[in-house]
Parts: sequence; C-alpha cells; structure tokens
Amino acid sequence: MTMSAMGEPCVLLKLGEVVLKGKNRELFERRLQGNIKGALKKLDIRVDVRQRHGVIALFLPEGTSAEQADAVARRVADVPGLVWVHPAWRVAKEPGAVVKAAVELVRDTDEVRRRARFAVRSRRRDKRFPLRSMELDRLVGGELNDIYGLPVDLKNPELTVHIEVDRDEAFLFTNGIPGQGGLPVGSSGRALVLMSGGIDSPVAAYRMMRRGLRVDFLHFSGIPFTTSESIYKAYALVRALDRFQGRSRLWVVPFGKAQQSIKVSGADRLQMVAQRRLMLKTAEEVAHKVHAAALITGDSLGQVSSQTLANITALDDAVRLPILRPLVGMDKTEIMAEARRIGTLSISELPDEDCCSLLAPRSAETRARIEDLRQIEKRLDAEELAVQLAGSLQAYELDA
Ligand code: ATP
Ligand code: MG
Repeated sequence: MTMSAMGEPCVLLKLGEVVLKGKNRELFERRLQGNIKGALKKLDIRVDVRQRHGVIALFLPEGTSAEQADAVARRVADVPGLVWVHPAWRVAKEPGAVVKAAVELVRDTDEVRRRARFAVRSRRRDKRFPLRSMELDRLVGGELNDIYGLPVDLKNPELTVHIEVDRDEAFLFTNGIPGQGGLPVGSSGRALVLMSGGIDSPVAAYRMMRRGLRVDFLHFSGIPFTTSESIYKAYALVRALDRFQGRSRLWVVPFGKAQQSIKVSGADRLQMVAQRRLMLKTAEEVAHKVHAAALITGDSLGQVSSQTLANITALDDAVRLPILRPLVGMDKTEIMAEARRIGTLSISELPDEDCCSLLAPRSAETRARIEDLRQIEKRLDAEELAVQLAGSLQAYELDA
C-alpha cells in the first residue's frame, strides 16, 4: 500500500441505528452499501466502497479534487442510514504519517490564516496503535501549534482535527455534513404512499423511507374533470424525493369518474370520507400488485375535517393493510419546515386542481359513521370499482 504524504482522498461515513442491529447488522450494512453505490452511479467518479469497523469508507481515486470529494459527500448525505459524512484523508497507520497529514490537512484553511483556536480529537478503533488517543492528540496538537502558531482550546475550538485510527489505516478530517439518520431504504420492506400534490404526503414519504421502507407512489388525479397538472406536480415531487431512495415509481389513477359515482350515490356530507375510503381500497389493490405491505398517508390529526379521530377510524376500517401515518402528531408548521428542508415545499405550493376539492360538499362530516359509509359503498359496488380503478393504473418510472 503506497500513500502520499497527505494520504489518499476518501469520504468517511458514520452509521446511525444500523450499528445497533446485532445479528442483522451485516445484512443492514450490505444493503446500505448497495444504496450508496446506487446513489453514486451518476457521479462520474470511481468510488470504492469499503466496510470498516462500524464505519464505511469511500476510497476515491488518487488526484481526486476537494470539489469532487465534496460532490461525493453531498450525494451520499442523502442516503438514509448515515448520521455523518466526512470528506477525509486516509494515511498509513503510523504516528509520523498522521502528524504529516494533519499539517497538510489544515495548511490552506481559513482557520489557520486567522489563527483560530483549535483542538485535536483522536480515537482508536485499533488499540494496537503505539500511542494512546491522548498522546496522539498531544503529538499532533503540539506540531500544529509549532508550525502555525494556533492556540489550543479544548473546550470551544473553532477548528477540530479528527483522527480515527482504524485497523488498516488512519483517517483524518476537520468537518462533515449531517446525514439523514434512520435506516437503509429497503431494510424494512416496501410500502405504497398515497401522494397528493399537497405539502404533507411528500414529508410522510420521506419519513417512512428514512425508517427503511422502499416506497412506491400512488396519485389520484381528477381526470377527466381536471387537467393533468396534478400529475406533473406529483411527478415533480417524486423526482425531488427520489434522491433518498432511487428507482422510484409513480402510479397514477384517473379518479374523476369514480368521484362522480360517489356523488351520484348520494354521499353528500360523506363525500370526502367516502372518496378517501375508495382511494384506500384502490391503493390496497395496487399494493398487492407492487408487493407493498403497508399504505402511507400524510394525515395529521385534526388538520382538516377528514382527519378527525372518528374519520381516521372510518378510514382504517376501509382496508386490511396497515395505514402508516408518520405525521399524525405533527403541527403544520413542523411539517412545512421539514418539507422546506427536503426540497418539496416549493413544488407543493405550486397551484393545481386537487381532485378532492372537485366535488367537496359545502359542509363536510367530521364524525362519519362506518355503517353509513358501507351503505354508500354497497350502492356503488366499491370493491369492484376499486379493482377496476387499480386496473386503469398508469406508470411513470424514474430512471436510476
Ligand atoms: P396533503 O398535503 O398530503 O395533500 P392534506 O392536508 O391536503 O394533505 P388531505 O387532502 O385530507 O390532507 O389528504 C390526506 C392524505 O390523503 C394525503 O396526505 C394523502 O396521503 C392522501 N391523498 C389525498 N388526496 C390524494 C390524491 N389526490 N392522491 C393520492 N393521495 C391523496
Ligand atoms: Mg391534500
């Protein structure tokens, strides 16, 4: 193994809950590695993914620029399962090499130019290293102090040089990007998101991807009574969310005629809840086709009339699959802040014709009775209708 004085460029990844997984840990790590490779496919850099003890290291080709390393770091920071992403240097596991690399690492930084207060923090994953962590801190710190005249401040440093001694090498870095946390996509199975063009459902999708679900997206459009706008919006939202899992699929069901049938069957004040039940029944059919074991919605308790406790109970009654509602206890302002952070808010705020408002009654029922809903559905033959709707599915695939 030959390494230059400064070492070789790499990106060091800190795993989140994956490390708690005991026996399944290897499986999780392998899945995470696969997801990382998938995410990096489109970047034009050859990346070598290596498992280390409790961390993953991405080896980059010699001569990789800091900008390229940052691009790799930013891309993997979207992959659920990682808590920190550090552009780093990889050097031989010898005190001399570590000191040299630390000196190079900070040489051209702003912190050195303005004589920032600094600290060195070492840890050893390999205890056979000749120096203990404290001794390595002191050795490297003394050298940086000698060469650049930086003052040491262990309590509140402006610059921290991190050194991690591993089995085969040592890693050095000064900063990092926070990751998404959570679990690797796919490690919890598959689910189907009911995706409107609104603010909430994209956030719900993100939350469940982060809990390890690979998700498909299902959108109901008001077609033929609305334009295709809501589909474009749903598609744009799926595109924005795709960076967290890759290979996303959007399914679209034209729902306008079914909504009208519900109206004709005399749903009146129950129109909204009846529509939502039919959406769920259809989603359940679609879920079987795409091997999804749960449905996900953006419901938040009490946010709109269809989301009272009684109505949520009536919705749960419509299907056998579990309905996951990750936003149930969140405030709208919290949901919006998260939508902004994950980049979906500005898309959700574009105007569109939501199919739900199409035939909305003047006053909506907040305490729907399941018996009344079942009556409407009998007149409608809702089960058969759901099968038909699921048969009219249109697919939009996003390439990897
Ligand atoms: P959102 O911002 O997600 O649209 P909302 O606050 O507007 O939520 P509702 O319109 O009552 O609330 O919808 C609640 C949930 O029902 C949505 O989060 C979504 O999961 C599902 N849903 C509503 N409309 C549609 C649709 N046209 N296609 C697919 N799912 C939908
Ligand atoms: Mg909505």
